[in-house]
Amino acid sequence: MLKPILGLYLYFFVKVITDNLITSNLLCKSCGNQLTSLKYLINKPSPLALKSWNTSIFHSKSKYTHSLNQSIQHKENLALIQLLENPQGSHFELITVNKANVHFLNNTKSIADTWFPNFKWTICLCPHCFIHIGWYFESIFDTNDFFFRILVKNLFDEDYEDNLIIEPKFKLY
Ligand SMILES: [Zn+2]
Repeated sequence: MLKPILGLYLYFFVKVITDNLITSNLLCKSCGNQLTSLKYLINKPSPLALKSWNTSIFHSKSKYTHSLNQSIQHKENLALIQLLENPQGSHFELITVNKANVHFLNNTKSIADTWFPNFKWTICLCPHCFIHIGWYFESIFDTNDFFFRILVKNLFDEDYEDNLIIEPKFKLY
């Protein structure tokens, strides 16, 4: 009688743990507000990039499990970073995500000087502190085809934040 109930508890216990391990939040470097997550990283290269590379830009590792009964495996998270230039000559290192918690600077989207042919864009701000966090791109043919380009320099990940909390060291003399 108790076994099915215990099994159910165990299922939810393991599920909560593994679900939490999959997520590593990417935060606004300025205010700590959650902007997106490693699980929303996508590969969407711009043909106009000056440089492209895959790197483990964030200190955390993604952790996942194939099934609840298998041991948890670790896999390093590689993100595609691209270096892009705007018409004013400023350079930006950017990652791409398909979901982000941002505030649009305005509702008008421009096709001028776009980094993605047939995608119009608008500027994204952190919804909490309003610093420039990246750009939103939307297909001119399909409003359901969109993504966000986020500035690497304005992000840090939650796991790394934990690493920054260092225990004070006391001198014994
Ligand atoms: Zn912020």
